[in-house]
Amino acid sequence: MSTRHASRAVQREPPSTVVWPESDQMKRVGQIYDRLLEAYGKQGWWPADSSLEMIIGAILTQACAWENVTKAIRNLKRRGVLSLGALDRIAQLRLAALIRPAGYYNAKAAKIKAFVKHVKENHGLKLSRMLTMQLPVLREELLSIYGIGPETADSIILYAASKPVFVVDAYTRRLLLRLGLIIGRENYQTIQDLFARSLAPDAGTFKEYHALIVEHAKQRCRAKPLCDSCPLLSMCSYGKRIAGTMS
Ligand code: SF4
Repeated sequence: MSTRHASRAVQREPPSTVVWPESDQMKRVGQIYDRLLEAYGKQGWWPADSSLEMIIGAILTQACAWENVTKAIRNLKRRGVLSLGALDRIAQLRLAALIRPAGYYNAKAAKIKAFVKHVKENHGLKLSRMLTMQLPVLREELLSIYGIGPETADSIILYAASKPVFVVDAYTRRLLLRLGLIIGRENYQTIQDLFARSLAPDAGTFKEYHALIVEHAKQRCRAKPLCDSCPLLSMCSYGKRIAGTMS
């Protein structure tokens, strides 16, 4: 299983001057998926043994390398606290100590506690009851919980509830900007809508696509991109400039 995000801190790119007409944008979104899938193969995300582990991982990975998230998750498993009941009972300070490797551990412990409290008060500590709600209701409810923003909420909806919503992260934004599909001022919703318009609403495809973007960001489309061997080079004017192959 591959690792998740190396870091959410992606450098800001200069604004692109190319934004394609909508029909071209939609076609390109499909082409990008096909090329990344061919280059990297199926990623099979999310790397977790249960829905709860996935959700805790999504909270812990905020501004944190995945390698450190796995250390924190391992601590929780070793101490037998990776269950809703145990997370409800454990003192917040104790929880913070266990997840220390993931950074911002006091804030993240408060977020985990807030999530567990919400599931307890609204769903009787039954996660499946929450995750089977209709997508818009689930999304609204997740966004109402302290510490859960759009990216974390959509990660939970896609990977824990297996419902088709596209996850937009900093890597997605950087890739689209370099490919001239956005100009860089678009908000989360606008970028998410581009994927929703361009792809059939299939959770399996959305899961793979997001994972492939992360893999691509780690292997090639880094802060300093390795464009020479990029499967998207022929459609990326930014990359052609970097690779010195702009005609
Ligand atoms: S060509 Fe370079 S900048 Fe463009 S997508 Fe590939 S790695 Fe990223």
